[in-house]
Amino acid sequence: MKPIRIADAGRHVGEEVELRGWLYNRRSKGRIQFLILRDGTGLMQAVVAGDEVPESVFAIADRLTQESSVIVRGSVRADRRAPGGHELAVTDLEPVQVVEEEYPIALKEHGVDFLMDHRHLWIRTPRQAAVLRVRAEVIRAIREWLDDNGFALVDTPILTPAAAEGTTTLFTVDYFGEPAYLAQSGQLYNEAAIMALGRVYCFGPTFRAEKSKTRRHLTEFWMVEPEMAYCDQEENQRVQEELVAAVVRRVLERRRPDLEFLGRDVSKLEGIRPPFPRLPYDEALAWLEEQGLALPWGEDFGAPHETALSTRFEQPVFVTRYPARCKAFYMQPDPDRPEVVLCADLLAPEGYGEIIGGSQRIDDASLLEQRIREHGLPPEVFRWYVDLRRYGSVPHSGFGLGVERTVAWICGLEHIREAIPFPRLLHRMYP
Ligand code: ATP
Ligand code: MG
Repeated sequence: MKPIRIADAGRHVGEEVELRGWLYNRRSKGRIQFLILRDGTGLMQAVVAGDEVPESVFAIADRLTQESSVIVRGSVRADRRAPGGHELAVTDLEPVQVVEEEYPIALKEHGVDFLMDHRHLWIRTPRQAAVLRVRAEVIRAIREWLDDNGFALVDTPILTPAAAEGTTTLFTVDYFGEPAYLAQSGQLYNEAAIMALGRVYCFGPTFRAEKSKTRRHLTEFWMVEPEMAYCDQEENQRVQEELVAAVVRRVLERRRPDLEFLGRDVSKLEGIRPPFPRLPYDEALAWLEEQGLALPWGEDFGAPHETALSTRFEQPVFVTRYPARCKAFYMQPDPDRPEVVLCADLLAPEGYGEIIGGSQRIDDASLLEQRIREHGLPPEVFRWYVDLRRYGSVPHSGFGLGVERTVAWICGLEHIREAIPFPRLLHRMYP
């Protein structure tokens, strides 16, 4: 008998099949037992009718406890009342392991700390599994879009000799007696790679020692960073909006049942369509002041400002031309107004806030050297980076999109910790 997966049950109506999974929940009504099975692709009800199966099979059904692993055989029938629209009329049950101990995550409400301590088991629950499937689809969609649009994947190093994004969030490791740092970004290396390959992206884990507790920050997260030669900030933003819209579309196409299971209002996602609105930093500041969220010119937005700005539009919004002093050292100044830089953060709607940070990069060697000095960065470790401005320098731009923040927005999650299988946070390394 051919094993099938629950997600494919609709293609096997009337057939005898085998399911390999775990018991999620159960109930019984007289001589009928309803076993709710899960197999990683969905949930399915398996009906064990006392009058139709051998007594031994009925007895096994009776013994199966929550999370017992079991192989189930039977025929698929359509049933509109069943979760997923199909159920299995059981003919045979083969227990793989009957769980003898009480399963820690009983089917009731639990506190977040308890669930986080049991993250290795929590990910089995249908909600968490749905989020992880959406995450996998988001990553697949990002890669597909970039691969189809002329970007070459370049893997950048994780162990690095210097900061890329500010020295306050560096994780230091001992590299044979010398300090090295876990990568905060692959961008600087991507800038070398575009001079070889034109358009590239890196996709990997990123480390930032974020000492604040927010619902948007992990200390280890995944970021995709496209970088483009011969590209100004305008084109950079066009690429970003096309990519984000394509990812949302793909997830709607392929994971709609998961989004619906999560209770996501998919109509909000269906409306995501470029071009996204552009809002200069100065105008954002004026609008925030009207909302009672005044901020001195030159400061970066905090969480409340971002939340307010990202509830103002139905689409993601580009906040552009930030003051140079609150942004990274490598950003290109606006030629008409050197106190601001050619950059944009993309804020997701519904209060989600920043999902992308991007900019045009400085392409002049002496200006870059000046910035490195002003930021108190060690010039020797950036020698190679300045070299890129000496041998065939070109205008170039790129951005970083955070996978977990994107997943949190698409799934409608309250906290980023559910958007990654095993989150690393200020006070969490276990499991
Ligand atoms: P924030 O101001 O929110 O800390 P940032 O300006 O430090 O963000 P960038 O350096 O521009 O962020 O990084 C690009 C993207 O990486 C962000 O838009 C976000 O999606 C993601 N990102 C940055 N820091 C984190 C983090 N600590 N946890 C999860 N995602 C992050
Ligand atoms: Mg940050």
